[in-house]
Amino acid sequence: MLNIPFSKVTCSGSELKYIKKVLKSGWLTTAGVTQEFEKQFAQKLGVKYACAVNSCTAALHLGLEALKVKSGDKVFVPAMTFTASAEVIRYLHADPVILDVDYDTRILTPEILKQAIVNHPDVKVLIIVHFGGHPADMLGEDGILEICKKHGIRIIEDAAHAFPTRMGDQMIGNIGDITCFSFYANKTITTGEGGMLTTNDEDIYRRVKVMRLHGINRDIWDRFTSDKPSWEYDVIAPGYKYNMPDINAAIGLAQLEDYDKFHLGRLRAVEFYRKELRDIEGVDLPECLVPFEDHAWHLFPIVLTQESNIDRNVFIEKMALMGIGTSVHYKPLYRMTYYRERYDLKPSDFPNSENLWQGTVSLPLFPSLKIDELRFICSSIKAILKEARIKVSTL
Ligand SMILES: *Cc1c(COP(=O)(O)O)cnc(C)c1O
Repeated sequence: MLNIPFSKVTCSGSELKYIKKVLKSGWLTTAGVTQEFEKQFAQKLGVKYACAVNSCTAALHLGLEALKVKSGDKVFVPAMTFTASAEVIRYLHADPVILDVDYDTRILTPEILKQAIVNHPDVKVLIIVHFGGHPADMLGEDGILEICKKHGIRIIEDAAHAFPTRMGDQMIGNIGDITCFSFYANKTITTGEGGMLTTNDEDIYRRVKVMRLHGINRDIWDRFTSDKPSWEYDVIAPGYKYNMPDINAAIGLAQLEDYDKFHLGRLRAVEFYRKELRDIEGVDLPECLVPFEDHAWHLFPIVLTQESNIDRNVFIEKMALMGIGTSVHYKPLYRMTYYRERYDLKPSDFPNSENLWQGTVSLPLFPSLKIDELRFICSSIKAILKEARIKVSTL
């Protein structure tokens, strides 16, 4: 039996070397290494400003704060996402307006958004999620950017899955006003814990930079490198403690050296899955509406439909017995006690998300997945589904 985890971090490069350098320098918190990580990350995306923080959740919170979201405001957010995308709205005492997603891509589409604007004309901010690393339909005459511009809606992109994701000749992170990335341990690149907010807007950048460190108007690094006395600083708002330490940025710098290799590893695995699982009855594969290699492929979620005759939870147990780790993305927000009770939400109002939720399973996907592991995963899936079919036909 093989033992295949759902996700596995690849740290094969300079991570240790760079961490050692930070430890030796005697400066462990936010300083030059974080600045260098921000600079290189911004360069990869072609964006003007990048602000490193200690999580994507922090980046989303800072983004909403910079847009001056306040108590009583409402913010659109898709149902098919991690709770972080919505909880940050509550941090500011605003309320999420949770929307259904497209079945094939699990993304909030321009069509769904347009209808939502008709139903909720008072909403002025949208959090869009590039699910699994597939870009939302942002560009073009009828894209999300244009619709939002027309209705005075500001956008925050939750790109926790979307590095590197391309849209035409641009990268996600250089398209909207505010984009938030995650470097959590199982994301496409990691810093252990960490996140990044990118923007081309100088005012947003300034606000985020101040608020990520206590609302202090100059960061600690500046305090120790500029000509002014190092004790002197001012506080202009009750900010947060969201800065990224240099130890974590050191890991990030090493990961950036290899991110294209990681991406190739993911593409190879997904290509295998798509070919092997294409024609299986009762299994829907995730749609890719952009060129294959423009997709970050953070996740490969399949859906077991009614025709598969197998319950998703049973399938997961059987995979586990074969030594294969899987996961579920996601139990939708309206099914979580907090959101369901506070906003009186019903599954029947989210038909696509509900169809996904009933049968969704994410298969193992990480750069170092080997071909024989992929073969074993696919043949196990086929065997489990065949058994389920036989059971039905002998009833
Ligand atoms: C992982 C994730 C986050 C949160 O990222 P952290 O860095 O752990 O805060 C937010 N949104 C989505 C869609 C995620 O998958």
